[in-house]
Amino acid sequence: MAQTSKQQQPEVIVGIDLGTTNSLVAIVHPAFRQPVTLREYNNSALVPSVLYFTEEEIVITGNKAKAALVSHPQQTVYSIKRLMGRSYSDVQEQAAFLSYRLMEDDNTSNLLKVKAGDKQFTPVELSAYLLSALKKRAEYILQMPVSKAVITVPAGFNDVQRQATRDAGKLAGLDVLRIINEPTAAALAYGIGLRANEEKTVAVYDLGGGAFDISILKISNGVYKVLATSGDTALGGDDMDQAIVAHWAYLHEIEPEALGSNRGLAQSLRLKAVEARQQLSEKEYFDTRMDNYELQLTRGQLEELLQPLVAKTIDNCRQTVTDAQLTVKDINAVLMVGGATRMPLVKKMVSGFFEQPADDSLHPDEVVALGAAIQADMLAGNRNALQLQEVTPLSLGVETMGGLMDVLIPRNTRIPASAVRTYTTQQDGQTSMKVAVYQGERELVKDNRRLAAFDLTGIPEMNAGVAQIQVAFSLDDDGILTVNATELRSGAAQSIQVQPQRGLQESEVKSMLQTSISHAQEDLQTRQTLEIQTAAQQLLDVTAAFLEKNTDLLSDEEAQTTRQAMNDLQDVIGTNDSTLIADKAAVLNELSAPYAERLMDKAARESMQQHIEE
Ligand code: ADP
Ligand code: MG
Repeated sequence: MAQTSKQQQPEVIVGIDLGTTNSLVAIVHPAFRQPVTLREYNNSALVPSVLYFTEEEIVITGNKAKAALVSHPQQTVYSIKRLMGRSYSDVQEQAAFLSYRLMEDDNTSNLLKVKAGDKQFTPVELSAYLLSALKKRAEYILQMPVSKAVITVPAGFNDVQRQATRDAGKLAGLDVLRIINEPTAAALAYGIGLRANEEKTVAVYDLGGGAFDISILKISNGVYKVLATSGDTALGGDDMDQAIVAHWAYLHEIEPEALGSNRGLAQSLRLKAVEARQQLSEKEYFDTRMDNYELQLTRGQLEELLQPLVAKTIDNCRQTVTDAQLTVKDINAVLMVGGATRMPLVKKMVSGFFEQPADDSLHPDEVVALGAAIQADMLAGNRNALQLQEVTPLSLGVETMGGLMDVLIPRNTRIPASAVRTYTTQQDGQTSMKVAVYQGERELVKDNRRLAAFDLTGIPEMNAGVAQIQVAFSLDDDGILTVNATELRSGAAQSIQVQPQRGLQESEVKSMLQTSISHAQEDLQTRQTLEIQTAAQQLLDVTAAFLEKNTDLLSDEEAQTTRQAMNDLQDVIGTNDSTLIADKAAVLNELSAPYAERLMDKAARESMQQHIEE
């Protein structure tokens, strides 16, 4: 068999700033070796992070989608980043300001869903639409395939939010080589101008559309270390706009209910507020007509309205400087990041607090993407000067209920690395637990590489869910993984050592990554179904155990309907219809929830009885 000569495709790793308001893609220019943001002709590098779902089920992104904010408010989704990895109750306060509908998702892995038109989407799916559009746009501009990326997230993002971002990348067909913190990216872009052994302590002040972040980093010998970070995930340009809308609504006697029911009006006012705020960065006075409303705002009024919001960010800065065990005198530079730092009030208050001019020489809205591109370039091996630390090529984790992979150390984590997570028992009186260690990117352990397994024995008999078993992963400089499991109450412990990279071929890593990307959609669905099935099975077990022990607490009729609901759930639990399982589980849950209360009453009565008898 003859081998066909394969043309070597040039490869590029892009840096993506996936923003609440705007997203950007950047690369390090192969010829000039400088980071640049990608733009079409003379257009802006900023792509609005907005999605418009048309009646024809076409997904429109960017500027065209932005236009639909007013014309089709119920079908247009924005500020998705605020929803990533959050639950319905987490975002209640924000829901009022969103023109699209949020809904609770019974399935914990999705946390909440967004209604756009007639369809529902998870925030991960929505982010994937944005990323996929950014990927296509980059491919068009660069005229080459783009499949690898570094994506930035706020320093304050937790594991769930980071994982959601990774999942979105995967769904969009991107191999996410690394998730890096936005302030670190900004500092990287700033740091390439430094001499090799120059040491700097920099504050990164990032005020964007949806969030505020302040981080203090130390740059020394090409190493970027975050000393302290803090922020407010519900404070940004959006909140300023909200304040302006409220101000105008008050002046024009528009009731909050009217804004709530007339989403088109709310959106139009919001967009006018954005316009006002941006124009007032340059001018002293804003004045426009919208329908019957004369909308006016002076720079002075704006600053009066926004002063308390900006003051909150300064409080955060003060706390962060203290947390870093520094004083403002120790800070060598204050980097301005995010579109809202273009406001004179912000610049004034920030430079006032830090007692030095705020540095906005790097475009505040591009600097994060530029830094991500530099990180991507480092990963591509093009920057030998900056020493790259070793990273894990594949994720490491353990098997949890339903055969799911629970990742403790994600791929591309710098080593040495460690992680700890607590698990519990599934059955009453369970005295041993299997700890199975896997490597890979798939959602089900059966699709990943099994590294080792052992049984933790000697767990004292307890009810299901009471035991606390801490599993600790520690990966040392030589790539040796030590897995330790400890039952916290008894101290029973067991550990094992493995070398995850032993016998692992480069080609194997590649194919494992490829299959994880091509199976992303089905994997996420499988995880979702399994999680619902597991939760339903637990509910069945708990209810069955209750019925067995406490028949006296229920009337015959109650026992009958409960058994019926259990049978109904049992009938569907093995199917793949997660909605149906969730529905039946909800019915059973509703029936059985009050029983727990009766059980507690009974326990209380019995203990009283005991006291009396004593
Ligand atoms: P994100 O990181 O949330 O995507 P950006 O850094 O792109 O956000 O900042 C977007 C915010 O910056 C918006 O609230 C926008 O109104 C605001 N903004 C952009 N330009 C200006 C300006 N010239 N003056 C005031 N605000 C601005
Ligand atoms: Mg940003």
